[in-house]
Amino acid sequence: MKFSTKAIHEGNEPEKTTGAVTPPIFLTSTFAQESPAHHKGYDYTRAGNPNFTIAERQLAALEHGKYATVYSSGLGALTAYVSTLQKGDRVVALDGLYGGTFRLFNKVFSKFDVGLDLVSSNELPNLEKYFDDKTKLFLLETPTNPLLEVHDIADLSGKARKHGVKTLVDNTFASPYLQNPLNLGADIVWHSCTKYLGGHSDIIGGAMVTNDKEIHDALLFARMAIGVNPSPFDVWLLSRSLKTLAVRMERHSENAAHIYKFLSDNPAVKKVYFPAKSPVAALQMRGFGGMISAEFNLSLEETIEMISHFRYFTLAESLGGVESLVNHPASMTHASIPKDVREKMGISDGLVRFSVGIEDIEDLLADLRESLRIAKD
Ligand SMILES: *Cc1c(COP(=O)(O)O)cnc(C)c1O
Repeated sequence: MKFSTKAIHEGNEPEKTTGAVTPPIFLTSTFAQESPAHHKGYDYTRAGNPNFTIAERQLAALEHGKYATVYSSGLGALTAYVSTLQKGDRVVALDGLYGGTFRLFNKVFSKFDVGLDLVSSNELPNLEKYFDDKTKLFLLETPTNPLLEVHDIADLSGKARKHGVKTLVDNTFASPYLQNPLNLGADIVWHSCTKYLGGHSDIIGGAMVTNDKEIHDALLFARMAIGVNPSPFDVWLLSRSLKTLAVRMERHSENAAHIYKFLSDNPAVKKVYFPAKSPVAALQMRGFGGMISAEFNLSLEETIEMISHFRYFTLAESLGGVESLVNHPASMTHASIPKDVREKMGISDGLVRFSVGIEDIEDLLADLRESLRIAKD
């Protein structure tokens, strides 16, 4: 079975009692038992629900994994994984992590003595120096946010494996349509389903996918024990959205490629960040996705003026929905970082991140052209 056939058919059989082609939403907290502990596979929705099973079968198939688990959010999924570690364990991660991931380690897990060792891009050749007896996990995000840097999953996960360290890849930006980390040597794939998988900016959700039964059992236990389960309704929406993931990702990628060309040819743009520029991306990704960042030759005021004039690019946090969004890292996601540190990281006042939606490209390009003109006036 190929990608879209799996997305549409895996886990989705017509419902047995009525023949409904679309599965019902099992909005129930609990399930009747014939006698104590004898039931049809579900007892309480915090532990499992038929809608979870459907989405998990879809997600496992799309990521080429045996097991998937759905969660209340991306960060809920990570919390479940980290709860399987022990006090004193350490996690090595590449710099440029999603802000919420960094915050979770820095402000929460550190209190329980699970520490994070960050490796910057220029330290990458010395990565193995960071793995020691205490290191239990290597956390990798590619492409990164907001500079769309691409890391070599096969190479880096191979180095971690040599030291007995598991690799977890945050595959949120690429989606399983463009990149399958398990096939490249990763042990666990992590998603914020809030983004491309949900795809319509209407749910918050997370998922983990693995081929390792032990990891899967621990993740399932953690979901139940901590209570980071999603709602059956949200998971039903996720299942529905996964069915169109391929066509959406094709259009996101196609639109972003047009915008990449427009920005690259525009004298008002200093630098464009897009995975297409990376030779590694050409090898490990099937396309480059809908995320693109650009540094404009504009002052902070002009940049804000441009962003405020967009008609179709809505100024908002998040990404991966059908509608185009724009984000200004210096004043939004990275505002808490001092300006000089921020600039060293490559996040200047003129940097703008686009989540390119699936609208008609002519309208998106016209919107960009017009807002740039107004900002320069
Ligand atoms: C949004 C996001 C997360 C966190 O997911 P939530 O669903 O918001 O909890 C993690 N990683 C990346 C790359 C994200 O974009």
